[in-house]
Amino acid sequence: MNRNQQLFEQAKKIIPGGVNSPVRAFGSVGGVPRFIKKAAGAYVWDEDDVQYIDYVGSWGPAIVGHAHPEVIEAVREAALGGLSFGAPTAAEVQIAEEIAKLVPSVEQVRLVSSGTEATMSAIRLARGFTGRDNIIKFEGCYHGHSDSLLVKAGSGLLTFGNPSSAGVPADFTKHTLVLPYNDVAALQQTFAEIGDSVACVILEPIAGNMNMIQPSAEFIQTLRRLTEQHGAVLIYDEVMTGFRVALGGAQSLHGITPDLTTMGKVIGGGMPLAAFGGRADIMACISPLGGVYQAGTLSGNPVAVAAGLKTLEIIQRPGFYEQLAKHTQMLCHGLNAVAQEAGLPFCSQSVGGMFGLYFADAVPQSYAEMAASNTEHFKQFFHGMLDHQIAFGPSAFEACFMSAAHTPEHIADTIGVAAEVFTQMVRG
Ligand code: PMP
Repeated sequence: MNRNQQLFEQAKKIIPGGVNSPVRAFGSVGGVPRFIKKAAGAYVWDEDDVQYIDYVGSWGPAIVGHAHPEVIEAVREAALGGLSFGAPTAAEVQIAEEIAKLVPSVEQVRLVSSGTEATMSAIRLARGFTGRDNIIKFEGCYHGHSDSLLVKAGSGLLTFGNPSSAGVPADFTKHTLVLPYNDVAALQQTFAEIGDSVACVILEPIAGNMNMIQPSAEFIQTLRRLTEQHGAVLIYDEVMTGFRVALGGAQSLHGITPDLTTMGKVIGGGMPLAAFGGRADIMACISPLGGVYQAGTLSGNPVAVAAGLKTLEIIQRPGFYEQLAKHTQMLCHGLNAVAQEAGLPFCSQSVGGMFGLYFADAVPQSYAEMAASNTEHFKQFFHGMLDHQIAFGPSAFEACFMSAAHTPEHIADTIGVAAEVFTQMVRG
């Protein structure tokens, strides 16, 4: 048994499934998860001292590369001054101003510690602001694990959803309607029938939790128009896409101004930091100003804020996103080319530093299309790459992430290994 195997056995005795977040357990791809010992730049090392080129990037935060020296120094300095005060700080004001400067829709912002908290709070706020209960989400979009968001689609368009997790009372999800992503007709029908009872619509403006799926222009424009007409709050969940697909997030690419935006991942640079923000009149409904309660012992944690501020400084340097997007495209184009040469049904696409790999003939536009892709091929690809020290997320339904530390050499290596793996997959 190697050390990864030993640790997994040991972990399973004391931590359910051996992991602190389910996807880490390799459940859908099989095999033993790699226990990570350290990370630097584009690499992670496992407990057997095997080095991998990493396209997981902690599921998005590591945009400047792992353990960036300037971020580490900022964290070290902040930590020396104390780990948490439970009182306001100058640095949290600074990062709030920075977020408002960069994200077009944000006039006011509040810091929290996880994406789950950000979306849960934004939804409570939208309900408090509108005085309405119903919320709409889309099939395949993930917004964290709060009760009212763990919902399976109902059996018909206007059927409210059932819990998708044990432990969530049906009463808690009876106000959540789940619609198919990119389905304009479903949106129109729903708003025509119940639009005036909708508190908010929440969506991933570029979905990253059913692999990467982009919205059509018509879909997001219709969504903005209908929410505005019916007085429903539009929430862009940019926990993944914020500062990832572009400096101003997906909203800056789409030219859409949502009412509220949730952020996480990149804003903490790898530390537990997230945020929700938006229109000042809506944000004014939060306690202590308004009646919507929301709080956190570690909210605006000084060490997390220091990591976030430094990360936000680095990503604003000239050429940062141009290079990131160019490298991500380079990888996707290369993978498409070698898959085609091998004769394997495969395609990929990217936006900024986020990309999707699909074992399908065409890029999927919805959860149903994504679910029809070849997950067996994904498994083979995943393990083939991992055996050659290249790490992608252990699920066909996750997006992948490039960092500024990935060089054209890393990308060429990745494409070279993929060519071998694809060829082997075709030969069987
Ligand atoms: N929203 C989106 C779009 C996400 O991708 C995630 C996490 N992957 C969350 C919310 C939840 O964030 P967290 O895991 O920090 O609670």
